[in-house]
Amino acid sequence: MPDYPKTSRNRVRRLPARASYDAKVIYEIIDEAPLCHIAFSEEGQPFVIPALHGRLGDQLFIHGAPASRLLQHIVADHPVSLAFTVLDGLVLARSIFHHSVNYRSAVVFGRGRVVERDDEKLRALEAISEHLLPGRWAEARAPSRAELDATKVVAIAIESASAKMRSGPPSDDKEDYALPVWAGVLPLALRMLEPIGDLRQAPDTPLPGYVRVLMSPCS
Ligand SMILES: Cc1cc2nc3c(=O)[nH]c(=O)nc-3n(C[C@H](O)[C@H](O)[C@H](O)COP(=O)(O)OP(=O)(O)OC[C@H]3O[C@@H](n4cnc5c(N)ncnc54)[C@H](O)[C@@H]3O)c2cc1C
Repeated sequence: MPDYPKTSRNRVRRLPARASYDAKVIYEIIDEAPLCHIAFSEEGQPFVIPALHGRLGDQLFIHGAPASRLLQHIVADHPVSLAFTVLDGLVLARSIFHHSVNYRSAVVFGRGRVVERDDEKLRALEAISEHLLPGRWAEARAPSRAELDATKVVAIAIESASAKMRSGPPSDDKEDYALPVWAGVLPLALRMLEPIGDLRQAPDTPLPGYVRVLMSPCS
């Protein structure tokens, strides 16, 4: 997979050694981030809206109500920028100044189009669903005609993108390494807690295997 060309729009200026323009790296971050934030500007006012996403190749999919201002903005061929963030740890330095976080993040630029055809719309909705919980799409009831019509789906082709990552221990000033202050990394990960079954299901309804796998301590 090629790199996204470095331009004035996507070039990471601060700490460029942490940057990557490799599509594979960027796609991995997009796929691991559970949600994204989409930025757009309307009449000079910036907005940032959180959303769920799915990805197939270089296409990102977002869904929502047809009345959503964000989706209307995207289908009107206005540019958007999306941010994806995975927080890997808190980095505790000996000085407050050098505290940091370990992370992987991606910023993407593109324009969208409405997904009209039913087959593509269903593939896009499946991509969004499978991104959050692989296996769920095959088990749950498929969208009805009315539900499909009530859902707007947009595809955003990734035109330009960048990634930025930090990992590893804190980096303190030389003279601070002698301070008796605990320093190091507090690793963070998103994990599923004990499932809470809906009271309105038959009590013997089994927990799906694709959920049990996520509960396993070795997963
Ligand atoms: C969880 C997290 C917390 C952070 N906290 C802070 C903070 O508190 N203060 C702070 O100054 N910075 C923070 N950063 C870093 C911040 O995201 C920017 O990288 C930073 O502001 C420097 O941007 P810049 O001036 O180099 O680039 P800008 O001129 O702001 O951006 C130029 C281009 O660089 C790319 N880019 C910039 N940052 C990122 C990124 N993080 N990921 C992918 N592409 C990027 C984009 O394509 C962007 O269009 C944090 C990052 C993460 C992921």
